[in-house]
Parts: sequence; structure tokens; C-alpha cells
Amino acid sequence: MIKSKTNILLIYTGGTIGMVKDFKTGSLKAFNFKNLLDKIPELQLLDCKIDTVSFKNPIDSSNMKPEYWVQIAEIIETNYNKFDGFVVLHGSDTMSYTASALSFMLENLAKPVVFTGSQLPIGDLRTDAKENLITSIQVASMQNKGKPAIKEVCLYFEYKLYRGNRTIKLNAEHFQAFASLNYPDLAKSGVHLKINYEYLFKPNLRKKLKVNKNLDENIAVIKLFPGISKSVIESVLNTSNLKAVILETYGAGNCTTEKWFINILKNTISKGIHIINITQCSGGSVMMGHYETSSALKKIGVISGKDITTEAAVAKLMYMLGQNISGNTFKTIYEAPLRGEMT
Ligand code: ASP
Repeated sequence: MIKSKTNILLIYTGGTIGMVKDFKTGSLKAFNFKNLLDKIPELQLLDCKIDTVSFKNPIDSSNMKPEYWVQIAEIIETNYNKFDGFVVLHGSDTMSYTASALSFMLENLAKPVVFTGSQLPIGDLRTDAKENLITSIQVASMQNKGKPAIKEVCLYFEYKLYRGNRTIKLNAEHFQAFASLNYPDLAKSGVHLKINYEYLFKPNLRKKLKVNKNLDENIAVIKLFPGISKSVIESVLNTSNLKAVILETYGAGNCTTEKWFINILKNTISKGIHIINITQCSGGSVMMGHYETSSALKKIGVISGKDITTEAAVAKLMYMLGQNISGNTFKTIYEAPLRGEMT
């Protein structure tokens, strides 16, 4: 039996891809999604059926928040059985955060969710939007023995498909705006669309999709710098309702060995607040205990974020806190890869 065309749901949240210039101010702002489709008649040439759904008020992704992550997850949940794949149009600024969050929220995902956007609006002569959108739809439509070839949340930008929760936005200007420094590309688009099958996430197909919508935002990120003061650190750690802190340390997870610093962290942990150690470097991993400057962190019970990105660390933290996981179990689970977000 010949399988009918694949069904793809295109979800528009906003971002440059669908923006126009405001005549009065000269700044870019989101516009109506219907106009976006008019700009790409090529979509009709694709061998799949595309349905669309849009945020009522599309946003610049700098206004993204967990409430909107839940909205995207709910759109996918409601339409999960009707579609073979999902493409989410999203601003590039916080796309890595949203892709990471969705990877944790969509547990046992067995279909592709491809995030994409562009650096130039779709109406711009030199736009990168068309290629990004068309190839994302092709990626989401790819089938293997009648089943989706890709079964995870990914991000497609400028000829490369990445695991979403491994990406960072590293350039505000280049068409190649994203990178995945700690995990290989899932696919490359050239004359052929070449999928690296060995790197794809393999979910447990016997389990049903479970959508986790409970996210706890009571977290903070502290980026260390030489000279950071005790009062700055204390003021963050004394935030009311704080449940966990991501500490962006140097290199392989190193920090100052000064007593006041280690003592503050120790007291914080004794109050039941989790501290995660991740590196400020874009690539590489935390290895607590490798240097003397990280041994104390290991000893006082700081959690290792290993080679996780800040974006995925934030998303994983909000997701796990929302699951009410307690004490030591929290450390064990956080240090384990849940959706391929760490090695
Ligand atoms: N400020 C825009 C956004 O993130 C940038 C983009 O779309 O690339 O929504």
C-alpha cells in the first residue's frame, strides 16, 4: 500500500522570519502569519500536506517565557496523533532555550519537532528564511519504513540539523547563528539531505507521549567573574523561594578557593537549595576534582552539569523542580542524560 502524503503541522510563534519593518520607528515587529505563507509559494511544491497554527499574538522570542513553552507543548499534544511531524517557527534569540525546554516537556516523543527561524525576514531579498523553512519541513517529513525518521526535538538552521538541547546561539549576525559544540550534527543539507542516523535519539517506543507542563521558575544563574563580590552572590542566594542555582564557572568547572565563597555555597546547599556547576566555555565539560579549584565544590555536594549548555541546564532545572524530586535523588537524576542533553 502506498502511504499517503505526510502531514506536517507548522506552528508559528513569532520571530524575525515573519517580521516587517514598522514605518514609523524603523524597528522589526511580528506580523500576521497568513502573510508569511503568501511569501513562500514553494511550500505547495513539497510532497507533504501542511497545516498551520499560529500564536494569537506572535512574539519576538526575547519575550519568551515558560507559559509560552506550555502553549507550544499543548499545541503538539492536541495534534500529536493527527500529524507525522511538527515545525516550530521561532525567533532565534531564545530558540535554544525553547527547544531545550520542549525536549524535557515532551517525554517519550516519537515524532520530529523541528525548530527553525531566520536572521532576515522572509520578505527580504537576501533572506535565509526560505531555505530554513523548506528544509525543516522536509526533515520533519522524512520517514523510515512508514515511521518518522527523527524522533526528538531538534533545531535546523543554515544547512545543519542539531539536537535542540545541545544548541547555543553564538552569532547575532551570521546566517550560521547556532552551534552544537558538544554533540555532532544530526543532519547536513547539501546536494543531499544526509542524516547521521547513529547520532539520533532513540526513545522507548513502547511508552506513550507524556507532556510535562509543570515548570518551576524559582531558579537563578550566576556567572562568575574575577572580582565578583560576596554581597552580589549573597543577594542572589538569599532570593525568597529560590530552589536552585546554576553556577557558571571557569574552564572545567573551576572557581575561586576563597573560604567565604565556599562557605556561602555550603550554607546554601544545607538549606536544600541545589547548586549546579556548568562551564562558561561554549564547548567541553565540567570535571569537578580535576583541579584543586573545583575539589571543594565536589566535596560540598555541588551537582555536576557536565557538558550541558546553559540553555539546557535552565530548562532541565525548571522541569525537574516541577517534578518534585527530592534531595539526593535530584543530584543523581540531574547528573544523568534524560534527553541526550549531556554526555
Ligand atoms: N529578536 C528576534 C527573535 O528572537 C530575532 C530572530 O528572530 O532571529 O524573535
